[in-house]
Amino acid sequence: MKAVRYHGDGTLLLEDIADPRPGPEDVLLAPEAVGVCGTDTHIVSGHFVSRPPVVLGHEIAARVLAVGERVDGLDVGQLITVEPHLYCGRCTPCQTGRQHLCPDRRAPGVHLDGGMAERLVVPATLAYPVPDGVPAEHAAMTEPIACCVHGMDRLAPSSGLPLAVFGAGPAGAIMIALAKLAGAYPVVAFDPQETRRDLARRMGADVVLDPRQDVTHEVASATGGDGFAAVIDAVGSARVLEQAVSMSARGGRILVFGVSDPAERADLSPNDIYQRELTILGTALNPYTHRRAVSLLQRLPLHELRTRSFGLDGVPDALEAQRGGVADKIFIRPQPTEAPA
Ligand SMILES: [Zn+2]
Ligand SMILES: [Zn+2]
Repeated sequence: MKAVRYHGDGTLLLEDIADPRPGPEDVLLAPEAVGVCGTDTHIVSGHFVSRPPVVLGHEIAARVLAVGERVDGLDVGQLITVEPHLYCGRCTPCQTGRQHLCPDRRAPGVHLDGGMAERLVVPATLAYPVPDGVPAEHAAMTEPIACCVHGMDRLAPSSGLPLAVFGAGPAGAIMIALAKLAGAYPVVAFDPQETRRDLARRMGADVVLDPRQDVTHEVASATGGDGFAAVIDAVGSARVLEQAVSMSARGGRILVFGVSDPAERADLSPNDIYQRELTILGTALNPYTHRRAVSLLQRLPLHELRTRSFGLDGVPDALEAQRGGVADKIFIRPQPTEAPA
């Protein structure tokens, strides 16, 4: 089969490798759509630790080709999405209900072969059927949606109180839609790029602002002068965290969702956090939220994301397109029979 493998040192090759063989508890899959995200570009640039040689692709929608003899509840021909994590089961987080914090977790597309290939084998427990009528690109977004759902669980925003989302890339856009579903009001989105502000509006943001401008007046009028009860950093930057703190209401909750450079340091006042009783929350991966994300696939305005697709031979171009932000979401379509969208 053809597969796109990362070999370390920035080397990405489209290769012919042996088809994977499913065991009795596995499923054999034909990946149909695989989302490209910042993690993929970080793997190839060496900023995200992987285990080469490895087939990339962790946001996977695939068709079931065969099921192992001990697998129930999955049918050949079904479209599924892959929950891309395996946990060790032996560490303290794994054995105390916080498996996503497992230090030995392994992910298809990072440590194990992922979806940018004509075939993929995963344990059947990681394959989640999607509802009829969901296109493969939307099904491939289950993984990032599941991360957002976990983030919203952490943030636990109140309905009827103002919420801010910094950054309207694909994750910020999903966060805006989830905040609307949760009843936060108004939902205010900040992004310096006009195309992303436009996406924020289409995803349902009530107010959309350019953070490079002086927005003091707009924020005061959106929040009744109180500041935001909840703020989501979907950028990953120390400057955004500082802004999030300064725009928070008393008792405000701040979710750090975006991936920042590990070297960045924020300038925060512990006294301010104490005095205003602020809560700053981290969020990691998507524990127990993949199924919930599947049930949201037809409730979120995912068709508003402008997509672009590439074949397996176009992965370097797709990564370049991801870095350049030429579409809201980029996909790889690994099956040769399908014409690229
Ligand atoms: Zn991703
Ligand atoms: Zn573990």
